[in-house]
Amino acid sequence: MSDWNKRTKLVHGGTRRSQYNEVSEAIYMTQGFVYDNAEQAEARFIETGPDEFIYARYGNPTVDMFEKRIALLEGAEDAFAAASGMAAVNGALTSLVQAGDHVVSAKALFGSCLHILENILSKFGVEVTFVDGTDLDAWRAAVRPDTKVCFFESMSNPTLEVIDIKAVADIAHSVGATVVVDNVFSTPVYSKAIEQGADVVVYSATKHIDGQGRALGGVILGTKDYIRGTLEPYMKHTGGSLSPFNAWIMLKGLETIDLRVKAQAESALAIAEAVEGNPALERAIYPGLKTHAQNALVQSQLSGCGGTVLSLDVKGGKEAAFKFLNALTIPVISNNLGDSKSIATHPATTTHQRLSDELKAELGITPGLIRFSVGLEDTDDLIKDVRVALEASQV
Ligand SMILES: *Cc1c(COP(=O)(O)O)cnc(C)c1O
Repeated sequence: MSDWNKRTKLVHGGTRRSQYNEVSEAIYMTQGFVYDNAEQAEARFIETGPDEFIYARYGNPTVDMFEKRIALLEGAEDAFAAASGMAAVNGALTSLVQAGDHVVSAKALFGSCLHILENILSKFGVEVTFVDGTDLDAWRAAVRPDTKVCFFESMSNPTLEVIDIKAVADIAHSVGATVVVDNVFSTPVYSKAIEQGADVVVYSATKHIDGQGRALGGVILGTKDYIRGTLEPYMKHTGGSLSPFNAWIMLKGLETIDLRVKAQAESALAIAEAVEGNPALERAIYPGLKTHAQNALVQSQLSGCGGTVLSLDVKGGKEAAFKFLNALTIPVISNNLGDSKSIATHPATTTHQRLSDELKAELGITPGLIRFSVGLEDTDDLIKDVRVALEASQV
C-alpha cells in the first residue's frame, strides 16, 4: 500500500473487511469485544495483537481503519485518533512533558492551543517560552538543553504566516527537543511535515478531513515508538479517543479530501487574486499569492499551495467588517473552516475575542480582519458575492 499514489491510499488505505466482505467500511459501533474464553481474555490483556481489540477507548476496528489510512497518507509510521482536534493537541503535548521541562511555542496559535500552553502546562510545572514563529533567531535564542518540545501551527490562524518546518526542526533537534506541528491550515493533502522534520503531526479532523461540518475529531501521527509507547498510554487512560461513528465519517471524508481541498485551494487563489488591491481592503492575505511575504516558503514547503483560507482586512474597522459579513449571501457566518460551505469569521470578536488588545495587535488581528474559509461553491459566484459585500462595507 505504501507505494500507492495519494488518491489510491485515500480510497483504499487501512480497509479491513468483516466476514460479509462489505464494500463500504463498516461502523463497528461497539464499546467492547467478546472473548471466546477466559484464557483468551487473559492473553489479550497481556498482549493485544494487531487484529485484536479490548475496549473502544483503547481501539476499535473502524477507528483503526481511519488511523491506518491517514498514517499512510502522511507517511507516518503510526497514528492515534482523538475525539477532537483539541484532544489531539492536548494528548500530543501532555504525553511528552513533565514538571521541570521547558517548551518553546510560536505565539500565533488557535485559542484553545494557547490555553493549554499558557494555563494548563504551567499548572503542572512546565515552563513555556513564546516566540514569533517566523523568526528563526527567536527559536535559536529560546531553546535550551531542558527544552523537550517545540510546538507551532505550520500556517497560523488567522493571519496565515507560514513557519519553516525544516528550519525550526533543525533548531529543535540540536537540543534534542521533539517537534510537534499543528498542521490544520496546511491540510493533510499538501503536508510533507514528517519528511520536512516534524516528529509529531496533529490535525483537527473536524476541518478538512470531515470537510462537511458534521463531526468533531482529531488525530496524532508519529513514529510507532512515540504513538504506542508515549501517546497511547496517555490517551487510552484519559479518555480522549474517537467515537467509531465519527471515525467512519472521517474515513469517508478522506476518500474525497484530495479532490475537495484542491478545488477549494484553487478557488481561494482565484478569489485572492480577484480582490487583491480592491479599494475596500487594507490588504488581502493568502499564502499562495506571489505578494505574500513567505510565498517562497509556500513553494518549497507546500508545493505552492496556499491552503483553503484567506484573510481580508477590510478598511473601516469593525463596523465595515460587520457590514461586509452581513452583506454576504453565499458564505455563512460561522467559525469552522475547511468546510464545503464557505465560512466567514470575524476573529477579533469571536475566535480571538479573549486575547488582550496588545496581543491582537501583535498578531495582526485587526478590527477589520475577516477570515474566509473557501468552500466548494462556484468560484465566480463567490467572487461576485465578495465584491458586492466589499462595496457594501464602505457605505
Ligand atoms: C480547529 C483547530 C483546532 C481544534 O480542533 P477541534 O476539532 O475544534 O477540537 C486546533 N488547532 C487548529 C489550528 C484548529 O484550526
